[in-house]
Parts: sequence; structure tokens; C-alpha cells
Amino acid sequence: MEPKVYINGKLYPKDEAKISVFDHGLLYGDGVFEGIRCYNGNVFRFSEHIDRLYDSARAISMKIQLTKDELKDAVINTLKANNLKNSYIRLIVTRGVGKLGLNPFNCSKSQIIIITDFIQLYSKELYEKGLNAIIVATIRNHSNALNPNIKSLNYLNNILAKIECINAGATEGIMLNKDGYVAEGTGDNIFIVKNNEVLTPPTSAGILIGITRNVVMELAKEAGMTVREEQLTRNDLYNADECFLTGTAAEIIPVVNLDGRKIASGKPGKVTLSLLKKYQELTTQSSE
Ligand code: PMP
Repeated sequence: MEPKVYINGKLYPKDEAKISVFDHGLLYGDGVFEGIRCYNGNVFRFSEHIDRLYDSARAISMKIQLTKDELKDAVINTLKANNLKNSYIRLIVTRGVGKLGLNPFNCSKSQIIIITDFIQLYSKELYEKGLNAIIVATIRNHSNALNPNIKSLNYLNNILAKIECINAGATEGIMLNKDGYVAEGTGDNIFIVKNNEVLTPPTSAGILIGITRNVVMELAKEAGMTVREEQLTRNDLYNADECFLTGTAAEIIPVVNLDGRKIASGKPGKVTLSLLKKYQELTTQSSE
């Protein structure tokens, strides 16, 4: 069956799913998106993703043409039309078709696109052995320039960081903020474990408040661990007992080497693996 893509209320075969070259989403990266997972027919943390999408849209002064419930129905119907129970959902809202020139308010209506597909960021081996990362020179966007909590279609800050880490032969790049504190990965949040405490940068470090990050913090607390949001330095990462990244696509992935230094023994840590197991149990039994 040919995959179908939703655009503004209609489903199109993949090859015919097209939008105008005058859409400001293309011309200026003017739009917002979400990456969501569906596990066994249940869309994981659906409301949180939808809320974040509407918050991102509000922050850039963009109206989404559907209500939250209508948009959720559109996602469910797209999954059904594609006969998918396990999927990665890319939900995109672009500013719409306009003229050349930045003014977003001359654009037609915002456009809604829903792609249901699969994503595998990292191989199975990396989940078992852990990945190598570097701290990149590109700093995370300053919150007062483009707040990282707006999940916008302009990902060049992250892409510049990704280019650095690929050129250095590393799998992931960790970005610091303008003050030199740890912010996040190019497409994921970062955690360390130190002296049995689970630590992650606070939202004030200028990060995307990841939905997986929130779930992992809840899971760690439920398991009786101490979880703290704390400013972390590069040195804290080098001296961590464990380090891992979280994200919708990646779930939880261990980091075992940073800037050529082994993290602790250089193997995925116990806490990381137990949280990964708990996360997988939650997603397989998930219902909204
Ligand atoms: N930070 C960035 C920059 C991201 O792009 C993402 C999502 N890919 C995350 C963190 C993780 O967010 P979530 O857990 O909501 O997917």
C-alpha cells in the first residue's frame, strides 16, 4: 500500500504530497513541528505534544486552523489510512503561501501536514554499547534570540552542530549555551548520573523541554531516585558516572565516550539501562 500524507484535510499518495514553493515554511523556516510516536496503536503523550505544538505556534504568532481535538483526530485518521499501529508521526504546521519578503501576515492560511513513517536514529548496537559524542563549538541558540523551546522549522542551529559532530566522526554533538553550561544534544536532551543522583540541565539553560525528558524524570522519581535540574559544566559530563540522551525518536540512548574521554567504565550504566527498560515498558503498555 502506498503511504498517504495528510495535507490540509486531504490524504495524498506520498509522491503527490506537495506544497507551494512560496510557502514561508520553505522560504524562511517559518513554521513549527512535532515528532510523536505511536506504540501499539496508542499515540504516546499525545496531549503533551499537541500542547507544545500550539505553544510553539502561539509564540510565533501563527494560528493553527484546527482545534486541538480536530488535529488529534486528523493524526488518528492518517494513522488509520496508513494502517499503522507503530509509527513515527511528523506533524508540521507551516506559515502558508505568501510573497517573497518576511511579512508572515501576508500569507494565506497556515498549512497542516501529517507524515506517518518510521525513524531509526541509532542502530541496535549503539543502544547496547553506547555512543560517542563530542561537545561542539556551535552554541545553542540564545533564548532571547530564538527560544529553543519553540520547536520551529528552522533547525539550522542544530544542523550546524550536527555537521561538526559528523566531521569529527562522533555520533552526537552536545551543545553548550552562551554561558558555557551544558544545554542539550542536537536533537535530544541530556542527563548524567552522579553519586546515584539523576541530573539534567534546567529549562533556564535554554533547551527544548523534551517530552521524553519529562517522562524520564517521572520514571526516575517513581523508582526512588533523586532527580535534580542543575546547571552542568563540560567537566561534570567528563566526570559523570553515567550519561544518556533522551528524545521521542531516540528514546533513551547511553553516551559512553565524550571528547575522547571514556565516561566512567566506557559502558552503558545501570541506571541508564534500568530507565530504558522502564521507558520501554511504559511505551508498550501506553494509553493516553
Ligand atoms: N532537544 C531537541 C533540540 C530536539 O529536537 C528534541 C526532539 N527531537 C528533543 C530535545 C527531545 O524532545 P522530545 O523528548 O520531546 O522528543
